Amino acid sequence: MESSFSTTQDLTLESVKANLYSRNSLSLTPIDIELHAETVYRILELKKRNNAVILGHNYMEPLVFGLSDQGEQGDSLALSMSAVQTDSDFIIFNGVRFMAETAKILNPSKKVLIADKTAGCSLADDFRAEDVRILKEKYPGVPVMIYINSYADAKAECDVCCTSGNAEKIAMDMPGDELIFVPDLFFAQNLEKVLEGQKNILYPGKENSAKGAVCEVHEKFTLEDIIAIRESFGIDKNHPKRMMYVHWECKPEVLQEADYYGSTAQIRNDIAKRVEGGNLEKAFIASECELTSNLMEEFPSVEFATACSVRCNHMAKISLNKIKPILEAIDSGADLSEWEVVLSESTIQRASKPIQKMLSLSS
Ligand code: SF4
Repeated sequence: MESSFSTTQDLTLESVKANLYSRNSLSLTPIDIELHAETVYRILELKKRNNAVILGHNYMEPLVFGLSDQGEQGDSLALSMSAVQTDSDFIIFNGVRFMAETAKILNPSKKVLIADKTAGCSLADDFRAEDVRILKEKYPGVPVMIYINSYADAKAECDVCCTSGNAEKIAMDMPGDELIFVPDLFFAQNLEKVLEGQKNILYPGKENSAKGAVCEVHEKFTLEDIIAIRESFGIDKNHPKRMMYVHWECKPEVLQEADYYGSTAQIRNDIAKRVEGGNLEKAFIASECELTSNLMEEFPSVEFATACSVRCNHMAKISLNKIKPILEAIDSGADLSEWEVVLSESTIQRASKPIQKMLSLSS
């Protein structure tokens, strides 16, 4: 993938522009490039000079996503792993706040910085520690698995963490016939269906009055949307080279209509495998729009249906113009508190246990 410029050997404004133009992208216009190349260049120059790591979530807009080296790009789990492996003193997290918190929990001695601390997430914002405690009281002794899209205080109450890429495996690796899964209600119902007869998945609202949450982006996709997109773009069901991809956080009936469902990384990897085998000509991805923009750059031979206007407003808060001042402050030795993710030692200790458990079970 050519979206990363930070590996460019001789970094100059011209080389950055050339790299941007060579990305053969439908998502970047010459106007975008001319307007932003200087900011991109400045960020990359300061990144290199200060040995900073910039982690980029797949839902970042392409210019922001491209600030990260290929090994620094990915979904929540991939970025958590990169955060553990880095030897840099500064980790700039281009994603939302719960992700930056996870990086801090895994790297307590490092400075973890986020361009906008108000970049939230409907799943994390609507589900906190007391909501976990209510379920634990209702189902004493039943292990609790929490989706990584949650804040540290809620994670600290749980036994194990998961991402959409490893939830099935981790659920099955946990002891007992029952498991509480929080907070994503659609994900919970999807998991319940997939594990039917193997593990009883308990979740908020299932024979209890506890509160859960949903992803405000993925909940927007309806079954009618998916059927209409299939018709308009000719993505027929069971077509050998046309694929309808759906993310785990979508409603169960939307998931049922998919040709393939999975996590962001699993969807990306399936596309890569099909492209390699010459088995993908057209695709739609029921997920955040910028994921499609970034995949369009990575896989130019595929025609991606871009009927999408579904953006995560939280992810969209992370912009080039907010990232640049962080690197300027690092470079000049200025105060970083505006961007620094700070958690108490006890929260870090407690929240790291379910994350470490997940990492040990997924390796
Ligand atoms: S896309 Fe959904 S799950 Fe991801 S950060 Fe936005 S609201 Fe949260």
